[in-house]
Amino acid sequence: YGDPSQKIDYVFKLVLIGDSGVGKSQILSRYARNEFSLDSKATIGVEFQTRTLVLDHKSVKAQIWDTAGQERYRAVTSAYYRGAVGAMLVYDVTRRQTFDHIPRWLEELRGHADKNIVIILVGNKSDLEDQRAISIEDAKEFAEKEGLFFLETSALNAVNVETAFSTVLTEIFNIVN
Ligand code: GDP
Ligand code: MG
Repeated sequence: YGDPSQKIDYVFKLVLIGDSGVGKSQILSRYARNEFSLDSKATIGVEFQTRTLVLDHKSVKAQIWDTAGQERYRAVTSAYYRGAVGAMLVYDVTRRQTFDHIPRWLEELRGHADKNIVIILVGNKSDLEDQRAISIEDAKEFAEKEGLFFLETSALNAVNVETAFSTVLTEIFNIVN
């Protein structure tokens, strides 16, 4: 993914937020390294991962931050949000509680981050259709009301992970250009 010697035109910081176990680390590892692990402990300790992409002949480095198990309410520090221009707000489509907590995460995000931050709501684990607890319609309605982009993803099957990141990155790119 990307030639390390190339010149970087932009660095965009994105943050991943949402309850523990929703798949944030696996979404990131799918995007940054095209890897997936069923063992959630496999990706602890890394502050952020990067991936460089080209948009409109400019090279953009996405620096994507992942919580290292600080998902307890208000345990994510303001340093985590500082400078972020994009956010991925993740819930698990099979666990209603993780969707019910989204307004709380949104409030925390809006309290800490820049007011122009680009946010996408992501319902992960779309591969577990038989265990679905949140309908696409309900999530869409919430996203529209709050002015968020919305997609369902599967980090396991690599569905919509690329699209989710490129949606946010393209929107940020269009804002700064
Ligand atoms: P985090 O706490 O939000 O970082 O969640 P993790 O990325 O550690 O994932 C928690 C668990 O969900 C792990 O066992 C993952 O393998 C699993 N998981 C993550 N994404 C998916 C997915 O898209 N589909 C399925 N079936 N499991 C997933
Ligand atoms: Mg994690």
